[in-house]
Amino acid sequence: MDHPTDHTGPGGLPRSDVGMKCSRCRGPARHRLPSHNARFCDHCLEVFFKRQVEKAIKQFDMLQFGQRVLVAVSGGKDSLALWQVLTEMGYPAEGVHVALELGDGKFGEASLASSQEMAQRLGAPLHVFNMAKLAGFSVQEIAWANKRSFCSVCGTLKRYHLNKLALDLDCDVIATGHHLDDEAARLLGNLVRRHTQYLESQWPTLPGVPGAFAKKIKPLCRLRGAEVKSYAKAHGLPVARGECPRSKGATLPYYTEAVRMLEERMPGTGLNFYMGYLEQKDGPPAAPKDFNQCPSCGMPTFAETCTVCRFLERTKEREERKARAAETSGQL
Ligand SMILES: [Zn+2]
Ligand SMILES: [Zn+2]
Repeated sequence: MDHPTDHTGPGGLPRSDVGMKCSRCRGPARHRLPSHNARFCDHCLEVFFKRQVEKAIKQFDMLQFGQRVLVAVSGGKDSLALWQVLTEMGYPAEGVHVALELGDGKFGEASLASSQEMAQRLGAPLHVFNMAKLAGFSVQEIAWANKRSFCSVCGTLKRYHLNKLALDLDCDVIATGHHLDDEAARLLGNLVRRHTQYLESQWPTLPGVPGAFAKKIKPLCRLRGAEVKSYAKAHGLPVARGECPRSKGATLPYYTEAVRMLEERMPGTGLNFYMGYLEQKDGPPAAPKDFNQCPSCGMPTFAETCTVCRFLERTKEREERKARAAETSGQL
Protein backbone atom coordinates (compact mmCIF):
# COMPACT_ATOMS: atom_id res chain seq x y z
CA MET A 1 0.00 0.00 0.00
CA ASP A 2 1.27 3.45 -0.82
CA HIS A 3 0.93 6.88 0.64
CA PRO A 4 -1.12 9.32 -1.34
CA THR A 5 1.24 11.88 -2.90
CA ASP A 6 -1.05 14.83 -3.42
CA HIS A 7 1.32 17.48 -2.19
CA THR A 8 3.34 17.74 -5.35
CA GLY A 9 5.13 20.81 -6.63
CA PRO A 10 7.01 21.43 -9.90
CA GLY A 11 8.50 18.34 -11.58
CA GLY A 12 6.26 15.99 -9.62
CA LEU A 13 8.31 16.51 -6.45
CA PRO A 14 6.67 16.79 -3.06
CA ARG A 15 6.53 20.54 -2.30
CA SER A 16 8.93 20.21 0.62
CA ASP A 17 11.49 18.49 -1.66
CA VAL A 18 11.79 21.19 -4.32
CA GLY A 19 15.43 22.33 -4.47
CA MET A 20 16.79 19.39 -2.46
CA LYS A 21 20.22 18.09 -3.41
CA CYS A 22 21.37 14.53 -4.07
CA SER A 23 23.39 13.18 -1.14
CA ARG A 24 25.84 11.51 -3.52
CA CYS A 25 26.42 13.86 -6.47
CA ARG A 26 24.93 17.13 -5.14
CA GLY A 27 22.79 17.46 -8.29
CA PRO A 28 19.01 18.03 -8.04
CA ALA A 29 17.47 15.12 -6.10
CA ARG A 30 14.13 13.51 -6.84
CA HIS A 31 13.92 10.76 -4.25
CA ARG A 32 13.88 11.00 -0.49
CA LEU A 33 15.06 7.98 1.53
CA PRO A 34 14.49 8.83 5.20
CA SER A 35 15.59 5.36 6.40
CA HIS A 36 19.06 6.06 5.02
CA ASN A 37 18.96 9.79 5.73
CA ALA A 38 19.57 10.34 2.01
CA ARG A 39 18.19 12.10 -1.07
CA PHE A 40 19.01 10.85 -4.53
CA CYS A 41 18.76 11.81 -8.17
CA ASP A 42 17.58 9.06 -10.56
CA HIS A 43 21.13 7.94 -11.33
CA CYS A 44 22.25 7.73 -7.71
CA LEU A 45 19.04 5.96 -6.69
CA GLU A 46 19.92 3.37 -9.33
CA VAL A 47 23.41 2.93 -7.84
CA PHE A 48 21.98 2.66 -4.33
CA PHE A 49 19.26 0.21 -5.37
CA LYS A 50 21.63 -2.14 -7.17
CA ARG A 51 24.07 -2.07 -4.26
CA GLN A 52 21.33 -3.11 -1.84
CA VAL A 53 20.24 -5.96 -4.11
CA GLU A 54 23.84 -7.05 -4.63
CA LYS A 55 24.42 -6.96 -0.89
CA ALA A 56 21.35 -9.11 -0.21
CA ILE A 57 22.36 -11.60 -2.91
CA LYS A 58 25.83 -11.97 -1.36
CA GLN A 59 24.78 -11.80 2.28
CA PHE A 60 22.14 -14.51 1.91
CA ASP A 61 23.83 -16.61 -0.75
CA MET A 62 20.98 -16.17 -3.22
CA LEU A 63 22.49 -16.45 -6.69
CA GLN A 64 25.73 -17.09 -8.49
CA PHE A 65 26.71 -14.62 -11.19
CA GLY A 66 24.85 -15.33 -14.41
CA GLN A 67 22.63 -18.00 -12.80
CA ARG A 68 19.21 -18.44 -14.40
CA VAL A 69 16.31 -17.36 -12.23
CA LEU A 70 12.54 -17.38 -12.45
CA VAL A 71 10.89 -14.18 -11.23
CA ALA A 72 7.33 -14.52 -9.92
CA VAL A 73 5.74 -11.53 -11.66
CA SER A 74 2.38 -10.22 -10.45
CA GLY A 75 2.42 -7.00 -12.47
CA GLY A 76 2.82 -4.88 -9.31
CA LYS A 77 5.73 -2.49 -8.73
CA ASP A 78 7.73 -4.89 -6.55
CA SER A 79 7.95 -7.82 -8.94
CA LEU A 80 8.52 -5.56 -11.97
CA ALA A 81 11.32 -3.70 -10.17
CA LEU A 82 12.87 -7.04 -9.21
CA TRP A 83 12.73 -8.31 -12.77
CA GLN A 84 14.26 -5.05 -14.05
CA VAL A 85 17.14 -4.97 -11.57
CA LEU A 86 18.07 -8.66 -11.91
CA THR A 87 18.12 -8.35 -15.70
CA GLU A 88 20.29 -5.23 -15.52
CA MET A 89 22.66 -6.98 -13.15
CA GLY A 90 23.22 -9.69 -15.74
CA TYR A 91 21.09 -12.53 -14.38
CA PRO A 92 19.09 -14.33 -17.08
CA ALA A 93 15.70 -13.71 -15.44
CA GLU A 94 12.54 -15.22 -16.90
CA GLY A 95 9.12 -14.17 -15.67
CA VAL A 96 6.31 -16.40 -14.44
CA HIS A 97 2.87 -14.96 -14.10
CA VAL A 98 0.26 -17.06 -12.36
CA ALA A 99 -3.09 -15.89 -13.70
CA LEU A 100 -5.65 -16.00 -10.92
CA GLU A 101 -9.33 -16.12 -11.07
CA LEU A 102 -10.38 -13.60 -8.46
CA GLY A 103 -13.98 -13.05 -9.37
CA ASP A 104 -13.07 -9.56 -10.56
CA GLY A 105 -11.80 -9.69 -14.12
CA LYS A 106 -10.24 -6.22 -14.20
CA PHE A 107 -7.45 -6.69 -11.68
CA GLY A 108 -6.42 -10.02 -13.19
CA GLU A 109 -6.38 -8.62 -16.73
CA ALA A 110 -4.38 -5.53 -15.74
CA SER A 111 -1.84 -7.71 -13.91
CA LEU A 112 -1.33 -9.95 -16.92
CA ALA A 113 -1.08 -6.99 -19.34
CA SER A 114 1.60 -5.32 -17.16
CA SER A 115 3.59 -8.54 -16.93
CA GLN A 116 3.46 -8.97 -20.71
CA GLU A 117 4.48 -5.38 -21.35
CA MET A 118 7.43 -5.77 -18.99
CA ALA A 119 8.55 -8.98 -20.72
CA GLN A 120 8.52 -7.10 -24.01
CA ARG A 121 10.56 -4.23 -22.59
CA LEU A 122 13.18 -6.59 -21.23
CA GLY A 123 13.08 -8.95 -24.21
CA ALA A 124 12.74 -11.77 -21.68
CA PRO A 125 10.45 -14.82 -21.73
CA LEU A 126 7.24 -14.71 -19.69
CA HIS A 127 5.59 -17.99 -18.73
CA VAL A 128 1.88 -17.51 -18.11
CA PHE A 129 0.11 -20.02 -16.05
CA ASN A 130 -3.67 -20.13 -15.78
CA MET A 131 -4.47 -21.51 -12.37
CA ALA A 132 -8.22 -21.78 -12.84
CA LYS A 133 -7.95 -23.88 -15.98
CA LEU A 134 -5.34 -26.19 -14.50
CA ALA A 135 -7.24 -26.99 -11.38
CA GLY A 136 -10.52 -27.49 -13.25
CA PHE A 137 -12.25 -25.69 -10.39
CA SER A 138 -12.20 -22.05 -9.40
CA VAL A 139 -10.20 -21.03 -6.33
CA GLN A 140 -13.49 -20.13 -4.67
CA GLU A 141 -14.94 -23.61 -5.24
CA ILE A 142 -11.80 -25.21 -3.81
CA ALA A 143 -11.91 -22.87 -0.81
CA TRP A 144 -15.58 -23.73 -0.08
CA ALA A 145 -15.05 -27.47 -0.44
CA ASN A 146 -12.03 -27.42 1.87
CA LYS A 147 -13.40 -24.89 4.37
CA ARG A 148 -10.35 -22.68 3.88
CA SER A 149 -10.01 -18.98 3.26
CA PHE A 150 -9.71 -17.84 -0.32
CA CYS A 151 -6.25 -16.32 0.30
CA SER A 152 -4.82 -19.44 1.91
CA VAL A 153 -6.00 -21.67 -0.98
CA CYS A 154 -4.79 -19.14 -3.53
CA GLY A 155 -1.37 -18.97 -1.81
CA THR A 156 -1.01 -22.75 -1.64
CA LEU A 157 -1.95 -23.21 -5.30
CA LYS A 158 0.39 -20.40 -6.37
CA ARG A 159 3.38 -21.83 -4.47
CA TYR A 160 2.67 -25.31 -5.81
CA HIS A 161 2.42 -24.20 -9.44
CA LEU A 162 5.45 -21.91 -9.22
CA ASN A 163 7.52 -24.79 -7.86
CA LYS A 164 6.17 -27.20 -10.45
CA LEU A 165 6.89 -24.78 -13.27
CA ALA A 166 10.43 -24.17 -11.99
CA LEU A 167 11.05 -27.93 -12.01
CA ASP A 168 9.50 -28.35 -15.47
CA LEU A 169 11.68 -25.55 -16.82
CA ASP A 170 14.74 -26.98 -15.10
CA CYS A 171 15.29 -23.68 -13.31
CA ASP A 172 16.20 -24.13 -9.69
CA VAL A 173 15.72 -20.62 -8.26
CA ILE A 174 12.47 -18.65 -7.82
CA ALA A 175 12.75 -14.97 -6.89
CA THR A 176 9.86 -13.01 -5.40
CA GLY A 177 9.46 -9.25 -4.96
CA HIS A 178 8.98 -9.21 -1.16
CA HIS A 179 10.72 -6.16 0.26
CA LEU A 180 11.82 -5.04 3.70
CA ASP A 181 8.40 -3.69 4.76
CA ASP A 182 6.76 -7.02 3.82
CA GLU A 183 9.34 -9.05 5.69
CA ALA A 184 9.44 -6.79 8.76
CA ALA A 185 5.61 -6.82 8.93
CA ARG A 186 5.52 -10.60 8.60
CA LEU A 187 8.20 -10.97 11.28
CA LEU A 188 6.29 -8.67 13.63
CA GLY A 189 3.06 -10.63 13.03
CA ASN A 190 4.76 -13.95 13.64
CA LEU A 191 6.40 -12.70 16.84
CA VAL A 192 3.16 -11.23 18.18
CA ARG A 193 1.25 -14.44 17.45
CA ARG A 194 4.18 -16.68 18.48
CA HIS A 195 4.11 -18.61 15.23
CA THR A 196 7.34 -20.48 15.94
CA GLN A 197 7.07 -22.63 12.84
CA TYR A 198 6.84 -19.59 10.56
CA LEU A 199 9.60 -17.85 12.51
CA GLU A 200 11.91 -20.74 11.75
CA SER A 201 11.44 -20.29 8.03
CA GLN A 202 11.79 -16.50 8.21
CA TRP A 203 14.89 -16.02 6.07
CA PRO A 204 15.34 -14.30 2.70
CA THR A 205 16.71 -17.49 1.11
CA LEU A 206 15.02 -20.86 1.47
CA PRO A 207 17.24 -23.70 0.29
CA GLY A 208 15.91 -26.08 -2.32
CA VAL A 209 16.33 -29.75 -3.17
CA PRO A 210 17.22 -30.55 -6.80
CA GLY A 211 14.31 -32.12 -8.63
CA ALA A 212 11.85 -31.48 -5.78
CA PHE A 213 11.93 -27.96 -4.37
CA ALA A 214 13.22 -24.84 -6.10
CA LYS A 215 15.35 -22.51 -3.98
CA LYS A 216 13.39 -19.37 -3.03
CA ILE A 217 14.94 -15.95 -2.75
CA LYS A 218 13.87 -12.38 -1.88
CA PRO A 219 16.53 -10.07 -3.35
CA LEU A 220 14.64 -6.87 -2.37
CA CYS A 221 14.72 -7.73 1.33
CA ARG A 222 17.00 -4.80 2.21
CA LEU A 223 14.83 -2.21 0.42
CA ARG A 224 11.79 -0.40 1.71
CA GLY A 225 8.50 -0.38 -0.21
CA ALA A 226 8.85 3.37 -0.86
CA GLU A 227 12.36 2.83 -2.25
CA VAL A 228 11.08 0.14 -4.62
CA LYS A 229 8.31 2.52 -5.64
CA SER A 230 10.83 5.28 -6.40
CA TYR A 231 12.88 2.87 -8.47
CA ALA A 232 9.81 1.72 -10.43
CA LYS A 233 8.89 5.36 -11.02
CA ALA A 234 12.39 6.36 -12.14
CA HIS A 235 12.31 3.53 -14.69
CA GLY A 236 8.73 4.23 -15.77
CA LEU A 237 7.82 0.56 -15.21
CA PRO A 238 4.37 -0.48 -16.51
CA VAL A 239 2.94 -1.13 -13.05
CA ALA A 240 -0.61 -2.57 -12.87
CA ARG A 241 -3.02 -0.39 -10.95
CA GLY A 242 -5.31 -1.57 -8.21
CA GLU A 243 -4.90 -4.28 -5.64
CA CYS A 244 -6.20 -7.79 -5.22
CA PRO A 245 -9.97 -7.51 -4.59
CA ARG A 246 -9.62 -10.46 -2.21
CA SER A 247 -6.96 -9.02 0.09
CA LYS A 248 -9.47 -7.23 2.34
CA GLY A 249 -9.75 -8.70 5.80
CA ALA A 250 -6.18 -9.99 6.01
CA THR A 251 -4.36 -9.04 9.22
CA LEU A 252 -0.96 -8.41 7.64
CA PRO A 253 -1.85 -4.81 6.66
CA TYR A 254 -2.06 -3.89 10.37
CA TYR A 255 1.49 -5.04 10.94
CA THR A 256 2.58 -3.28 7.74
CA GLU A 257 1.00 -0.10 9.07
CA ALA A 258 2.72 -0.56 12.43
CA VAL A 259 6.13 -0.96 10.75
CA ARG A 260 5.47 2.12 8.61
CA MET A 261 4.48 4.16 11.63
CA LEU A 262 7.68 3.16 13.45
CA GLU A 263 9.72 4.03 10.34
CA GLU A 264 8.12 7.45 10.15
CA ARG A 265 8.89 8.26 13.77
CA MET A 266 12.26 6.50 13.86
CA PRO A 267 13.73 6.09 10.35
CA GLY A 268 15.77 2.92 9.96
CA THR A 269 13.79 0.90 12.54
CA GLY A 270 12.51 -1.63 9.99
CA LEU A 271 15.95 -2.57 8.72
CA ASN A 272 17.37 -2.79 12.26
CA PHE A 273 14.44 -4.89 13.44
CA TYR A 274 14.51 -7.33 10.52
CA MET A 275 18.27 -7.65 10.01
CA GLY A 276 18.83 -7.70 13.78
CA TYR A 277 16.43 -10.62 14.08
CA LEU A 278 18.18 -12.53 11.29
CA GLU A 279 21.60 -11.89 12.82
CA GLN A 280 20.71 -13.64 16.05
CA LYS A 281 19.47 -16.70 14.16
CA ASP A 282 21.72 -19.63 13.27
CA GLY A 283 21.25 -19.14 9.54
CA PRO A 284 18.82 -20.32 6.90
CA PRO A 285 16.42 -23.15 7.74
CA ALA A 286 17.58 -26.62 6.68
CA ALA A 287 16.60 -27.86 3.21
CA PRO A 288 13.36 -29.89 3.21
CA LYS A 289 13.89 -33.57 3.92
CA ASP A 290 11.83 -36.70 4.67
CA PHE A 291 9.32 -35.91 1.97
CA ASN A 292 7.46 -38.35 -0.28
CA GLN A 293 6.31 -38.17 -3.83
CA CYS A 294 2.60 -37.52 -4.28
CA PRO A 295 1.11 -40.61 -6.00
CA SER A 296 -1.29 -38.45 -8.05
CA CYS A 297 0.90 -35.64 -9.33
CA GLY A 298 4.47 -36.66 -8.52
CA MET A 299 5.24 -33.46 -6.62
CA PRO A 300 7.02 -33.63 -3.24
CA THR A 301 4.80 -33.80 -0.14
CA PHE A 302 5.18 -34.33 3.59
CA ALA A 303 1.86 -36.17 3.75
CA GLU A 304 0.87 -39.17 1.71
CA THR A 305 -0.98 -37.16 -0.94
CA CYS A 306 0.02 -33.53 -1.55
CA THR A 307 -2.14 -30.67 -0.29
CA VAL A 308 -3.17 -29.58 -3.77
CA CYS A 309 -4.32 -33.06 -4.82
CA ARG A 310 -6.26 -33.37 -1.56
CA PHE A 311 -7.81 -29.95 -2.21
CA LEU A 312 -8.95 -31.13 -5.63
CA GLU A 313 -10.23 -34.51 -4.37
CA ARG A 314 -12.42 -32.81 -1.76
CA THR A 315 -13.69 -30.32 -4.32
CA LYS A 316 -14.59 -33.15 -6.70
CA GLU A 317 -16.40 -34.98 -3.89
CA ARG A 318 -18.35 -31.85 -3.05
CA GLU A 319 -19.34 -31.33 -6.68
CA GLU A 320 -20.48 -34.97 -6.90
CA ARG A 321 -22.54 -34.62 -3.73
CA LYS A 322 -24.15 -31.49 -5.14
CA ALA A 323 -24.93 -33.26 -8.41
CA ARG A 324 -26.50 -36.22 -6.55
CA ALA A 325 -28.56 -33.89 -4.38
CA ALA A 326 -29.81 -32.07 -7.47
CA GLU A 327 -30.74 -35.39 -9.05
CA THR A 328 -32.65 -36.59 -5.95
CA SER A 329 -34.57 -33.34 -5.62
CA GLY A 330 -35.39 -33.63 -9.32
CA GLN A 331 -36.91 -37.08 -8.75
CA LEU A 332 -39.16 -35.88 -5.94
ZN1 LIG B 1 22.96 11.96 -7.62
ZN1 LIG C 1 -0.27 -34.14 -5.75
